[in-house]
Amino acid sequence: MKAENKVWSLILDKIYETQREVIEKISSSLNLEKPYSAPVTTLLHCYTKAMFDSKFGMYKPIPTNINILLGLLYDFTIKVVLQGYPPPEHYYTKEYTDENGEKYIIHAGPDVILDNEVIELKYTSIPLEKLPLEHHELQLKMYMNITELRGRLVYLTPYGVREFLYEREEALTNEEIIKIAQEFFAGKISPRYEWECQYCQYRAICPLAIQKKEDG
Ligand code: SF4
Repeated sequence: MKAENKVWSLILDKIYETQREVIEKISSSLNLEKPYSAPVTTLLHCYTKAMFDSKFGMYKPIPTNINILLGLLYDFTIKVVLQGYPPPEHYYTKEYTDENGEKYIIHAGPDVILDNEVIELKYTSIPLEKLPLEHHELQLKMYMNITELRGRLVYLTPYGVREFLYEREEALTNEEIIKIAQEFFAGKISPRYEWECQYCQYRAICPLAIQKKEDG
Protein backbone atom coordinates (compact mmCIF):
# COMPACT_ATOMS: atom_id res chain seq x y z
CA MET A 1 0.00 0.00 0.00
CA LYS A 2 1.12 3.56 -0.62
CA ALA A 3 -0.53 6.92 -0.13
CA GLU A 4 -2.03 8.25 -3.38
CA ASN A 5 -3.72 11.35 -4.75
CA LYS A 6 -5.30 10.40 -8.08
CA VAL A 7 -9.01 10.55 -7.24
CA TRP A 8 -8.77 13.60 -5.00
CA SER A 9 -6.80 15.39 -7.74
CA LEU A 10 -9.64 14.67 -10.18
CA ILE A 11 -12.23 15.87 -7.64
CA LEU A 12 -10.28 19.04 -6.86
CA ASP A 13 -9.77 19.79 -10.57
CA LYS A 14 -13.55 19.61 -11.05
CA ILE A 15 -14.24 21.75 -7.99
CA TYR A 16 -11.65 24.31 -9.17
CA GLU A 17 -13.21 24.51 -12.62
CA THR A 18 -16.75 24.90 -11.21
CA GLN A 19 -15.76 27.40 -8.53
CA ARG A 20 -13.81 29.50 -11.04
CA GLU A 21 -17.01 29.92 -13.03
CA VAL A 22 -18.94 30.87 -9.88
CA ILE A 23 -16.26 33.38 -8.90
CA GLU A 24 -16.18 34.92 -12.38
CA LYS A 25 -19.96 35.40 -12.14
CA ILE A 26 -19.68 36.99 -8.69
CA SER A 27 -16.89 39.34 -9.68
CA SER A 28 -18.57 40.35 -12.94
CA SER A 29 -21.88 41.04 -11.18
CA LEU A 30 -20.34 43.09 -8.34
CA ASN A 31 -20.13 46.85 -8.73
CA LEU A 32 -19.51 48.76 -5.50
CA GLU A 33 -19.80 52.08 -7.37
CA LYS A 34 -22.92 53.42 -9.10
CA PRO A 35 -24.79 51.80 -10.79
CA TYR A 36 -24.77 49.44 -7.78
CA SER A 37 -24.88 45.74 -8.49
CA ALA A 38 -24.23 42.62 -6.36
CA PRO A 39 -25.16 38.98 -5.87
CA VAL A 40 -27.59 38.24 -2.99
CA THR A 41 -24.93 36.35 -1.00
CA THR A 42 -22.48 39.28 -1.18
CA LEU A 43 -25.14 41.75 0.03
CA LEU A 44 -25.71 39.59 3.12
CA HIS A 45 -22.07 39.66 4.19
CA CYS A 46 -19.34 42.13 5.10
CA TYR A 47 -18.93 45.14 2.76
CA THR A 48 -15.21 45.47 3.50
CA LYS A 49 -14.58 41.82 2.65
CA ALA A 50 -16.35 42.31 -0.69
CA MET A 51 -14.28 45.46 -1.25
CA PHE A 52 -11.01 43.65 -0.42
CA ASP A 53 -11.97 40.69 -2.62
CA SER A 54 -12.81 42.94 -5.51
CA LYS A 55 -9.73 45.15 -5.12
CA PHE A 56 -7.11 42.46 -4.48
CA GLY A 57 -8.64 39.58 -6.43
CA MET A 58 -8.40 37.30 -3.41
CA TYR A 59 -11.26 34.98 -4.34
CA LYS A 60 -10.48 31.36 -3.44
CA PRO A 61 -11.69 28.75 -5.93
CA ILE A 62 -10.45 25.84 -3.77
CA PRO A 63 -11.95 24.94 -0.37
CA THR A 64 -9.76 26.03 2.51
CA ASN A 65 -11.33 23.83 5.17
CA ILE A 66 -13.17 20.54 5.36
CA ASN A 67 -16.58 22.13 6.02
CA ILE A 68 -16.36 24.15 2.80
CA LEU A 69 -15.37 20.99 0.92
CA LEU A 70 -18.28 19.05 2.43
CA GLY A 71 -20.63 21.91 1.55
CA LEU A 72 -19.51 21.95 -2.08
CA LEU A 73 -19.83 18.15 -2.38
CA TYR A 74 -23.29 18.23 -0.75
CA ASP A 75 -24.50 21.02 -3.07
CA PHE A 76 -23.25 19.30 -6.19
CA THR A 77 -24.56 15.84 -5.24
CA ILE A 78 -28.05 17.02 -4.36
CA LYS A 79 -28.29 19.27 -7.45
CA VAL A 80 -27.59 16.18 -9.58
CA VAL A 81 -29.93 13.94 -7.54
CA LEU A 82 -32.81 16.43 -7.94
CA GLN A 83 -32.18 17.68 -11.48
CA GLY A 84 -29.91 15.22 -13.30
CA TYR A 85 -26.40 15.61 -14.71
CA PRO A 86 -25.21 18.15 -15.58
CA PRO A 87 -27.41 20.15 -13.20
CA PRO A 88 -29.01 23.18 -14.90
CA GLU A 89 -27.84 26.65 -13.96
CA HIS A 90 -30.42 29.05 -12.52
CA TYR A 91 -29.62 32.73 -12.85
CA TYR A 92 -31.84 35.78 -12.31
CA THR A 93 -31.39 39.53 -11.96
CA LYS A 94 -33.84 42.13 -10.71
CA GLU A 95 -33.51 45.90 -10.46
CA TYR A 96 -34.81 47.76 -7.41
CA THR A 97 -35.16 51.56 -7.15
CA ASP A 98 -35.21 53.36 -3.79
CA GLU A 99 -37.12 56.50 -2.80
CA ASN A 100 -34.26 58.71 -4.07
CA GLY A 101 -34.18 57.06 -7.48
CA GLU A 102 -31.02 55.03 -6.66
CA LYS A 103 -30.92 51.74 -8.55
CA TYR A 104 -29.66 48.38 -7.25
CA ILE A 105 -29.25 45.39 -9.56
CA ILE A 106 -29.44 42.19 -7.53
CA HIS A 107 -28.22 38.85 -8.91
CA ALA A 108 -29.56 35.48 -7.74
CA GLY A 109 -28.15 32.02 -8.43
CA PRO A 110 -30.31 29.57 -6.47
CA ASP A 111 -29.15 25.96 -6.15
CA VAL A 112 -32.29 24.21 -7.40
CA ILE A 113 -35.67 25.11 -8.93
CA LEU A 114 -38.10 22.22 -8.54
CA ASP A 115 -41.92 21.98 -8.51
CA ASN A 116 -42.32 25.78 -8.43
CA GLU A 117 -40.02 26.09 -5.45
CA VAL A 118 -36.62 27.72 -5.10
CA ILE A 119 -34.40 25.45 -3.03
CA GLU A 120 -31.20 26.31 -1.18
CA LEU A 121 -28.90 23.52 0.00
CA LYS A 122 -26.84 24.21 3.10
CA TYR A 123 -24.16 22.20 4.83
CA THR A 124 -23.29 23.47 8.31
CA SER A 125 -21.81 22.20 11.55
CA ILE A 126 -24.13 24.46 13.59
CA PRO A 127 -26.32 22.50 16.08
CA LEU A 128 -29.77 21.55 14.76
CA GLU A 129 -31.63 23.65 17.33
CA LYS A 130 -30.02 26.85 15.93
CA LEU A 131 -31.38 26.23 12.42
CA PRO A 132 -32.44 27.91 10.22
CA LEU A 133 -29.71 30.56 10.28
CA GLU A 134 -30.79 34.16 9.74
CA HIS A 135 -28.56 34.86 6.72
CA HIS A 136 -29.72 31.64 5.02
CA GLU A 137 -33.36 32.66 5.54
CA LEU A 138 -32.69 36.15 4.18
CA GLN A 139 -30.90 34.70 1.15
CA LEU A 140 -33.80 32.36 0.39
CA LYS A 141 -36.43 35.05 0.98
CA MET A 142 -34.59 37.36 -1.44
CA TYR A 143 -34.54 34.58 -4.03
CA MET A 144 -38.28 34.12 -3.40
CA ASN A 145 -38.87 37.81 -4.15
CA ILE A 146 -36.82 37.61 -7.35
CA THR A 147 -38.27 34.30 -8.63
CA GLU A 148 -41.81 34.76 -7.20
CA LEU A 149 -41.73 31.15 -5.99
CA ARG A 150 -42.13 29.37 -2.64
CA GLY A 151 -38.85 28.58 -0.91
CA ARG A 152 -37.19 25.65 0.82
CA LEU A 153 -34.01 25.42 2.91
CA VAL A 154 -32.50 21.92 3.03
CA TYR A 155 -29.80 21.33 5.63
CA LEU A 156 -27.21 18.62 6.08
CA THR A 157 -25.21 18.70 9.35
CA PRO A 158 -22.99 16.22 11.23
CA TYR A 159 -25.90 15.86 13.68
CA GLY A 160 -28.76 15.20 11.27
CA VAL A 161 -30.82 16.84 8.54
CA ARG A 162 -33.50 19.54 8.55
CA GLU A 163 -35.82 21.05 5.93
CA PHE A 164 -37.86 24.29 6.14
CA LEU A 165 -40.61 25.41 3.73
CA TYR A 166 -41.53 29.09 3.23
CA GLU A 167 -44.76 30.21 1.55
CA ARG A 168 -44.81 32.93 -1.15
CA GLU A 169 -46.04 35.58 1.27
CA GLU A 170 -42.93 35.02 3.43
CA ALA A 171 -40.65 36.43 0.69
CA LEU A 172 -38.87 39.69 1.51
CA THR A 173 -40.65 42.70 0.07
CA ASN A 174 -38.98 45.05 -2.43
CA GLU A 175 -38.68 47.62 0.37
CA GLU A 176 -36.93 45.14 2.67
CA ILE A 177 -34.47 44.23 -0.09
CA ILE A 178 -33.80 47.91 -0.86
CA LYS A 179 -33.04 48.45 2.85
CA ILE A 180 -30.48 45.60 2.80
CA ALA A 181 -28.94 47.04 -0.39
CA GLN A 182 -28.73 50.52 1.16
CA GLU A 183 -27.10 49.09 4.32
CA PHE A 184 -24.51 47.38 2.12
CA PHE A 185 -23.70 49.99 -0.53
CA ALA A 186 -24.26 53.22 1.43
CA GLY A 187 -23.89 51.98 5.03
CA LYS A 188 -20.89 49.77 4.14
CA ILE A 189 -21.71 47.54 7.09
CA SER A 190 -18.53 45.70 8.13
CA PRO A 191 -19.00 43.02 9.28
CA ARG A 192 -22.72 42.30 8.89
CA TYR A 193 -22.42 39.49 11.44
CA GLU A 194 -19.70 39.39 14.11
CA TRP A 195 -18.95 35.71 13.38
CA GLU A 196 -17.83 36.61 9.83
CA CYS A 197 -14.48 37.89 11.11
CA GLN A 198 -13.56 34.48 12.60
CA TYR A 199 -13.67 32.92 9.12
CA CYS A 200 -12.31 35.88 7.16
CA GLN A 201 -8.97 35.68 5.35
CA TYR A 202 -8.42 39.43 6.00
CA ARG A 203 -8.84 39.13 9.77
CA ALA A 204 -5.15 39.78 10.54
CA ILE A 205 -4.92 42.89 8.38
CA CYS A 206 -8.40 44.38 8.75
CA PRO A 207 -8.76 47.25 11.24
CA LEU A 208 -12.50 46.55 11.51
CA ALA A 209 -12.05 42.89 12.54
CA ILE A 210 -14.03 41.91 15.62
CA GLN A 211 -12.18 39.67 18.08
CA LYS A 212 -13.86 36.54 19.39
CA LYS A 213 -15.00 37.16 22.98
CA GLU A 214 -12.66 34.48 24.38
CA ASP A 215 -9.73 36.00 22.43
CA GLY A 216 -9.85 38.82 25.01
S1 SF4 B 1 -12.16 40.89 9.23
FE1 SF4 B 1 -14.33 41.19 9.60
S2 SF4 B 1 -14.71 43.37 9.17
FE2 SF4 B 1 -12.74 42.84 8.26
S3 SF4 B 1 -13.17 42.28 6.13
FE3 SF4 B 1 -13.21 40.39 7.33
S4 SF4 B 1 -15.34 40.11 7.92
FE4 SF4 B 1 -15.11 42.22 7.28
